[in-house]
Amino acid sequence: MTIAAPPRPARPAAPSGTLRATTVAPGNRFGRLVVTAEEEPYLWRGRFSRRRWACDCACGGSAVVREDSLLSGHTTSCGCRRDDVVRDRATRHGARSGDRRRPEYQAWQTMRLRGAAPVCARWQAPAGRGFQNFLADLGRRPSPAHRLVRLDPSRPFAPSNCRWAKNPPRAGVPRRLITVRGRRMTLREAAAEAGIAYATLCKRLERGWSTRAALTP
Ligand SMILES: [Zn+2]
Repeated sequence: MTIAAPPRPARPAAPSGTLRATTVAPGNRFGRLVVTAEEEPYLWRGRFSRRRWACDCACGGSAVVREDSLLSGHTTSCGCRRDDVVRDRATRHGARSGDRRRPEYQAWQTMRLRGAAPVCARWQAPAGRGFQNFLADLGRRPSPAHRLVRLDPSRPFAPSNCRWAKNPPRAGVPRRLITVRGRRMTLREAAAEAGIAYATLCKRLERGWSTRAALTP
């Protein structure tokens, strides 16, 4: 009489609760990555090649990833998830792992990954302290209508130059401070004081007019 082998334990489900994919196609999701298009294959000394795929990351970044790395679960983000893992392990107090879904965390990630401007060292500190500092300096976002803005777009992201602002100016329209008779003010304030339209002032400055000429009604 033979002894039956014990039943194989069920394969643990993937973290998302879905079965692991066996093929890759545009539109497929792997962790934070969504596949957008096929790229040139990865070639290694002519001995083997691997298909590669361009992916958009949930953080706003992108990456080109080998197909086997996607299918094995080895790569699940553009690289941003590694930062989160380090942070989550290092963080026992204050911010928790759920923080990555919070709007403040999204703003912090976007600031760092988009590369619109340099970010101060305090907000880039390793092991999760960067986000902790960011949160301590700016506090929670007051409302969904608030966005992270720089007061002076020519200067880096830093506590003294950033705040949560409601209805910030549209991207592409620089919010600049100018000095009028020794006083620093926004373009909007200067236009109101001079009695001209804000749009007119912007256009004049873009054309290279002097501050004095641009503010003449
Ligand atoms: Zn990412």
